[in-house]
Amino acid sequence: MNADAAGHAPYSDTPIPRHLDYIARNTFDQPTLVVDRSAIVERYHALARGLSGARIHYAVKANPAPEVLQALVQAGAGFDAASRTEIEACLAAGATPAQISFGNTIKRPADIAYAHGLGITHFAADAVEELEKLAEQAPGSNVCLRLLGLATGADWPLSRKFGCAPDMALSLMQTAQDLGLHVEGLSFHVGSQTRDPEMWCETLDQVAEVWTAAQAAGFDLRLLNIGGGFPASYASHVADPESYARDVMGKVRARFPDHVEIMAEPGRGLVAEAGAIAAEVLLVSRKHDADLYRWVYLDIGMFSGLAETMDEAIRYQITTAREHEATGPCVLAGPSCDSADVLYEKHPYQLPLGLKGGDRVVIHSCGAYTSTYASVGFNGFPPLAVVVI
Ligand SMILES: *Cc1c(COP(=O)(O)O)cnc(C)c1O
Repeated sequence: MNADAAGHAPYSDTPIPRHLDYIARNTFDQPTLVVDRSAIVERYHALARGLSGARIHYAVKANPAPEVLQALVQAGAGFDAASRTEIEACLAAGATPAQISFGNTIKRPADIAYAHGLGITHFAADAVEELEKLAEQAPGSNVCLRLLGLATGADWPLSRKFGCAPDMALSLMQTAQDLGLHVEGLSFHVGSQTRDPEMWCETLDQVAEVWTAAQAAGFDLRLLNIGGGFPASYASHVADPESYARDVMGKVRARFPDHVEIMAEPGRGLVAEAGAIAAEVLLVSRKHDADLYRWVYLDIGMFSGLAETMDEAIRYQITTAREHEATGPCVLAGPSCDSADVLYEKHPYQLPLGLKGGDRVVIHSCGAYTSTYASVGFNGFPPLAVVVI
């Protein structure tokens, strides 16, 4: 099942993906993320087919590389931005303000005013104070109320931090209306890396209940923003984007009237599999002679791009040029002088027994949530380099 460092793809007999081929043909003097923009565009179209008719706003935070944003502008995507800087990145890539929504529920007032000045009219909120900010800085705007995700099976849950409880939603809608805002719909996020479409059902049921109550109370909702959550294949394999999206869309349509406009905000599901990181082993050691586990230290870690290994939540697939050698368990760690910089220890990682300093490792499905999670220079290690092909 494993690929080799020459770039053979994990999981399939299909030709070597372009980004893996590029890694195999090049050397790098620091950990480097290589992203294939054509693979992103392909996945965009696959998701669009599965989500038939839904508006797709790419969650910029997943990978804001200018070439990625440009490719998605050309493919016809909209964008979900969380800050002024992300909005500027979308505009620089050629997006118009009408294609951009400001989906962060925790916004800086000056950023709201900036967005409003540009003509961005779609915002998200989940609290009275945020509605007041919107009314002041972006009067008359459209607002989606974000609901707390009460049920999640996601590997990277987002549920507790964002959204209001269902029983608060109606009073927040009233507040928004009283403040002169236009409540256009509801939004939620099932949690990032929700591997199984079945995991959407409970959340969708809860959202549908709020939707029905809001209609009964006289709010004319027309937009349902189903957020992100579309998964990528890491150490375990998930359904292809089109069938996954089709499955989710079926569950949405079964619970909401046909005229409701659906919007989705995929991040990970669009870009993760289109990228891989070329990295290097710096040291292999044992802590005492009888140690069962080797410690394998890479030149990339928790603070240089692999933040999603926190709590071992995301388990990347890692390949080497020693695929035909016997493997053994190891603790995998980053290079920095912080003892939290350990990637996998609770569930040791199987790597070739012959692995040694200087060996290339390829970390797969790294197109999302890596480059922007790299610190600016902890211990003097440079932020993750990015090459978009
Ligand atoms: C991060 C985020 C997304 C993207 O989530 P993925 O799981 O990466 O698809 C979508 N919407 C909002 C509001 C987000 O914060």
